[in-house]
Amino acid sequence: MKKVELYIHIPFCEKKCNYCDFVSFHSSYDVIDKYIKKLITEIEYKKYLLTNYEVTSIYIGGGTPSFIESKYISYIMESIYNNYNVAKDSEISIEVNPNSASMNKLKNYYDLGINRLSIGLQSANDMELKILGRIHNYNDFLVSYNNAIHIGFKNINIDLINGIPTQTPTSYKKTLKQILMLNIKHLSIYNLIVENNTPMKTMLDNNELQLPLETDLLKIDDITKELTTHYHLMRYEISNYAKTGFECKHNLGYWSDVPYIGFGLNSSSYFENKRLKNKSILNNYLNLDYSKYITIDDKSIYYDEIIVIDKIAHINDYIITGFRKTSGINIHDFYDTFNLDFEKLFGTALKIYQGMSLINKTQDNYYFTYDGLNVSNKILSDLLLKENEPNIL
Ligand code: SF4
Repeated sequence: MKKVELYIHIPFCEKKCNYCDFVSFHSSYDVIDKYIKKLITEIEYKKYLLTNYEVTSIYIGGGTPSFIESKYISYIMESIYNNYNVAKDSEISIEVNPNSASMNKLKNYYDLGINRLSIGLQSANDMELKILGRIHNYNDFLVSYNNAIHIGFKNINIDLINGIPTQTPTSYKKTLKQILMLNIKHLSIYNLIVENNTPMKTMLDNNELQLPLETDLLKIDDITKELTTHYHLMRYEISNYAKTGFECKHNLGYWSDVPYIGFGLNSSSYFENKRLKNKSILNNYLNLDYSKYITIDDKSIYYDEIIVIDKIAHINDYIITGFRKTSGINIHDFYDTFNLDFEKLFGTALKIYQGMSLINKTQDNYYFTYDGLNVSNKILSDLLLKENEPNIL
């Protein structure tokens, strides 16, 4: 059976954070109830697409999945178990926030077979959390983290953000040390991106807040490298670190060309050489009729966007996602996927970046070095194929 991954989007949050431009919002219980009912119909009807597939991972993300009552998570999981071939060893993750991940909810998730938690901590510094507009403090996180361990969760990710206004190398080091001393198995660290039309952008524009200096951001990168190495967390992707065996299977699938189907508002799918985007406006999604057999590309009815991926676009996607992993791109896998010689196709650029110690090669894999990962966008822009040069294929 072919492999597929499932993503379920829960767009609801208790309060919008100051930096957030995701599709997430606060809603009444009525709307949440309607949304989950629609989501279940989408899960039930898309099963026809995946009769020959085995589900190897499920990711319930948001928004804040732990904000809604856990009975809704159990409806979702029951529907997936009843309609799809879920592999026995599948990784099943849910995103939770410290203020809403109560003992009861965590216990329910565990009983449903959810075996991985991703906790949105962002910082261990309460002042920085306030600036981000988060509604939890560090102590809330400790309570939910300890409850999760007590219940039996073994695979827990912590999300952190760096580059927060007022953050210093010292405050960041303190956050990272506090987390690493908990013996965590997985850590995701994202740089703060200031999006337009967010309260954070307005506060920065009005000089009410200042971002850390460039020199401090470089020190923060060094601290990450030093402390994750010291605590034996391996960097296996640009923003992700894990103890051996705790790498996120779901995300590794995204970066390894595994197809996925998204359910719910604004979710994305990658399936049968197409990229598809679900409806992104809540009422449009709630008004969909999933009561008949659907095909993956009934665009006008079910999707905001469908992009057909030709060979060049597929190769470029493969390069972009493959080089996110520290293991990089395996030349044999590349050949099996495209029937093309990776070294012939990219030899000149690979040699230049090997000469600059930004790309390394083992016997069969090309990968970005630590410094290469930090300038990955620049390298990728040189490597990617142009649509107007298909003759090289
Ligand atoms: S909890 Fe996450 S999704 Fe919700 S508003 Fe904050 S950053 Fe956005």
